[in-house]
Amino acid sequence: MDFCPKCGTRMRVKRVEGGVKLICPKCGHEEFRKTKVLQAKYEVSPETRREALTVLTGEESEISTLPTTQVECPKCGYGEAYWWIIQTRSADEAPTQFFKCKRCGYVWREYS
Ligand SMILES: [Zn+2]
Ligand SMILES: [Zn+2]
Repeated sequence: MDFCPKCGTRMRVKRVEGGVKLICPKCGHEEFRKTKVLQAKYEVSPETRREALTVLTGEESEISTLPTTQVECPKCGYGEAYWWIIQTRSADEAPTQFFKCKRCGYVWREYS
């Protein structure tokens, strides 16, 4: 979804006040997207023994207040999902974008 509308280059995601800014590294085109920044919570999974990001720390009701975007659900193919970002531990790292399908509730993440 995050391709530059002018030149088609994959855009970089940068966290800014109130959302994220998409910046094209090739032509410099910028877009602002308003969303919520949720707190990251890291937990070690007892099954995989790997550190995992807890997807949502808030109440389920909080999801309905999140903005939606046009993105295809990898599970059911529906074209609209809630989305938010989680700031990783380092402020220099690109924020991780999460999506939750409006139809089936599947949650996935996109690495930028
Ligand atoms: Zn561009
Ligand atoms: Zn779905």
